[in-house]
Amino acid sequence: MSHIAKSNLTQAQLDAHWMSYTGNRQFKKDPRIIVSAEGNYYTDLDGRKIFDGLSGLWTCGLGHSVPAINEAVAQQVKTLDYSPAFQFGHEKSFQLAEQISQFMPEGLNRIFFTGSGSESVDTALKIARAYWRKKGMGTKTKFIGRAKGYHGAGISGFSVGGIPANRTLYGQGLESYHLPHTQVAGNEFTKGMPDQGKEKAEELLNLIALHDASNIAAVIVEPMSGSGGVIIPPKGYLQRLREICDQHNILLIFDEVITAFGRMGAKTGSEAFGVTPDAITMAKQVTNGVIPMGAVAFKQEIYDTFMDTGGPEYMLEVPHGYTYSAHPIACAAGLASLGEIKKQGLIQRVNDMSPAWENSVHQLKGASDIVTDIRNYGFAAGITIAPVDNEPSKRPFQIAMEMWDKGYYVRYGADTIQLAPPFITEQSEIDSMINALGDTIKKHS
Ligand code: PMP
Repeated sequence: MSHIAKSNLTQAQLDAHWMSYTGNRQFKKDPRIIVSAEGNYYTDLDGRKIFDGLSGLWTCGLGHSVPAINEAVAQQVKTLDYSPAFQFGHEKSFQLAEQISQFMPEGLNRIFFTGSGSESVDTALKIARAYWRKKGMGTKTKFIGRAKGYHGAGISGFSVGGIPANRTLYGQGLESYHLPHTQVAGNEFTKGMPDQGKEKAEELLNLIALHDASNIAAVIVEPMSGSGGVIIPPKGYLQRLREICDQHNILLIFDEVITAFGRMGAKTGSEAFGVTPDAITMAKQVTNGVIPMGAVAFKQEIYDTFMDTGGPEYMLEVPHGYTYSAHPIACAAGLASLGEIKKQGLIQRVNDMSPAWENSVHQLKGASDIVTDIRNYGFAAGITIAPVDNEPSKRPFQIAMEMWDKGYYVRYGADTIQLAPPFITEQSEIDSMINALGDTIKKHS
């Protein structure tokens, strides 16, 4: 199936855009162009409706073209389109900060705004270093991430990230070490949180023994790894990381760019898994993906450490921030997005529907023996596909492309198909996507 027929793009236009996270050579031979989106569906150039099985890139839990967000954004553009920092502000950022803190675990109530998940990770890591320096422990500069972790595309994000393909081109990053991932043998086809793998947290003790806690600023992990393959934390694992960090005076950061605001059927991954970190990074769902925005929630003591600084009050406590931090249009979108999540009771909805979701995705086990594992939590799932020709992502790529042609958008990443439908999805839509996926997997077996 060719996708180019109705495109008006010239070759020069196609060549000009160096697309992110896309095989440019393949795309430009046969572009799959999205024209519009509403509710749970995209429309492509041929006018075909395509179900959004990953909520954008884990961004659009409310679906697309949400009237309340559209109106808030349109109104904001007309009222205040930009607002500078350096001692000036606008009301919506304070309202949104307070709104976000209501979604965060108790005590994580100081919100720093950024423009993306990558900037949020950068912010959390910089503040972690600065925090220890403020406390007279300036040698605490190293970071610990985790194998298969994804923390964005910045230099700091790839350094703590643990997906080899995202690192190898770029050489030296920040000094970071990695915990092993928790996708261990014996957990295959577990529904929800797996039993095996808690002991992987003990590796943190080895890293501390090697590098000494006096040199380590923070541990950063996604409570549920998203891009690395939808890896659900084993029971007790995050608790153990928390204990070890407490014992050794190391900050614990949860990267919740995917898991915050409902995806786990809870306000955060932290709430879902019952562990409170010292800082939470977020982005994506905060504005429903409509306007780029990220944020970091810090526990109050971290904020207070910087405020308790002496010197003239006009002095910047932290020389850090972005031109688009707390952008008024993003704040308006954020207030509307979080307002809709509450108003529509969507966190409860995800929670209520997740047992049926779990049953549906686990039916894929029977589709083919190339399905070697299925993982799920909340409204998220990862399906591991056996490699072919020694290329782990070849089959998932082929399956995802064929699914698009059948009218379903799902994501491939390494050896996994990722699924994360909008929070407003109906069971019939889930059934239809899973049936199509089962047929497609069979065909590629
Ligand atoms: N952290 C996590 C856990 C993510 O999933 C992502 C994006 N997929 C990022 C950070 C980076 O966010 P962004 O692409 O908005 O910079």
